[in-house]
Amino acid sequence: MDSMSLGSGSIRIGVIGGGQLARMMVPPAIHLGLRISVLAEAEGSSAARAADAVGDYRDPDTVYAFAETVDVVTFDHEHVPQPILRELEHRGVAVHPRPEALQYAQDKILMREKLGELGVPIPDWAAVSDEEELQSFIAEHGGRAVVKTARGGYDGKGVRVVADSAEVRDWFTALAEDGHGGRLLVEELVDFTRELSQLVARRPSGETRTWPVVETIQENGVCAEVLAPAPVENPATLEEAARIGVAVADGVGVTGVLAVEMFETRDGRVLVNELAMRPHNSGHFSIEGSVTSQFEQHLRAVADLPLGDTAMTAPAAVMVNVLGGPEEGPMPVRYAEVLAEHPRAKIHSYDKQPRPGRKVGHVTVTGEDPGEVRAEARAAAAMFR
Ligand code: ADP
Repeated sequence: MDSMSLGSGSIRIGVIGGGQLARMMVPPAIHLGLRISVLAEAEGSSAARAADAVGDYRDPDTVYAFAETVDVVTFDHEHVPQPILRELEHRGVAVHPRPEALQYAQDKILMREKLGELGVPIPDWAAVSDEEELQSFIAEHGGRAVVKTARGGYDGKGVRVVADSAEVRDWFTALAEDGHGGRLLVEELVDFTRELSQLVARRPSGETRTWPVVETIQENGVCAEVLAPAPVENPATLEEAARIGVAVADGVGVTGVLAVEMFETRDGRVLVNELAMRPHNSGHFSIEGSVTSQFEQHLRAVADLPLGDTAMTAPAAVMVNVLGGPEEGPMPVRYAEVLAEHPRAKIHSYDKQPRPGRKVGHVTVTGEDPGEVRAEARAAAAMFR
């Protein structure tokens, strides 16, 4: 025990993964007096300033050695293999979210099965082993469907809209070569009017807190903007989205922050698309837009500390992502100009090498008028392009 601390200073949190999510956990850890360390993939990754360990999260001994230096292990991504996670728990390490919950964010087929069991509304889906099975699903669903790899996808990289099973022949071939009998997930192509996200934080004791439901706007499968709170088109739909978010958090037994991504359909239904068990792009607005940010809340939750207030600090918050430009290499960043022209905008740089389409930062603006706030966030973010 460190007798100088206010009380939390002796809790050591270890984050596996060195991306921007780990990086954004560092400031609130400092404010709360928690100790944080990061197991980053490589020197120079986004969270590297905080990374006092660099190593491969797929290597069991690297992870076990890292875990010995902390009180609780949590994550910046969902890729740590289940056998390593289960062994950590077997060794008495506190792992949050726990492997039983995390598996539903690691494997989209398991996720669909679990949500089905929980009675949560989801798109029509099937797990298919070959082109023939896929072709019949497509035929039964109006000639088009969405195919997804069960594991490893992000930012739309494992998602294809297809009319013919041959369009994912390469994925079937890769699964066959893998030899694990893997299957692809196929879903109906949902006719949605917009996408919503509900963030929920949950402690091991079961205490949960939610933020307002937000609207997320994607371009080319990547999140471009987040509007908080989601503009009210139909209050009942937003209530339903919030109810579903909490039902999923309790149903999968998540600990830490959970993002439940949903579709609002033309006929007024809410369907769950995706789960992420960590802070999420749809919650970045909360750094300035909420009394307690998703990053602070995640730390509180995984350390089993009481959760903070999630009320908005202003009527509206809009977050706009900054993506790497069309060419490899540094972007022509007019940094001082952005700061000068948009003093109200909060600029976040992840210190990442820009690659085309890669998320390298974001901008948040908060204020009274949603339209004005959005225009300013867009204008500031556009100056990085
Ligand atoms: P990732 O894990 O790569 O983020 P998602 O499953 O979230 O992949 O899909 C990425 C995007 O593709 C979604 O945000 C949505 O815009 C679109 N999408 C995914 N599934 C469907 C579906 N069943 N119907 C229509 N669009 C979909």
